[in-house]
Amino acid sequence: MPNREVLLYPDARLKLNCAKIDPCSCKAREIAQDLLDTMDCAPPRTVGIAASQIGEMVRIIIVDTSRNPKYAGSHGLLILVNPRITEAEGNQVFREGCLSIPDYTANISRHNHITVSGFTLEGKEVMVTTSGFESVVLQHEIDHLDGILFLDRVAQVKTDLFRRKSH
Ligand SMILES: [Zn+2]
Repeated sequence: MPNREVLLYPDARLKLNCAKIDPCSCKAREIAQDLLDTMDCAPPRTVGIAASQIGEMVRIIIVDTSRNPKYAGSHGLLILVNPRITEAEGNQVFREGCLSIPDYTANISRHNHITVSGFTLEGKEVMVTTSGFESVVLQHEIDHLDGILFLDRVAQVKTDLFRRKSH
């Protein structure tokens, strides 16, 4: 399956709510493979992607913070279908970027410790408890499934939003 085009802000599809999908379906498997291929073709250190970013309005995310050597101590590759945050506590601020918003980064405040439950492509329910960077990436990608972009979470545009120097 091919590398897919990534939707860019302000594409209206990025603001839509995504539907649940049968984790064992062929469709879920195909979309997950396309997401992986798209991540592999994205800039190095791309650590997450959501199905809506390739125009598939279903609840599938991929997170792999081990692609950034700074954050190697993580769960590695996570492919989660119908993920939801079941526990969240604490607070942290990270500088975030997004494949769909290539020109900006922003300091975003999110929970520090979270537990996410979701399904594998085999239909097995899994729970992931994590904190720090991996927790941020999971929250960012799950936001995509609800049509929420990091731009929606910028508290102060003047001080928290940054234009990338070049790319
Ligand atoms: Zn994003």
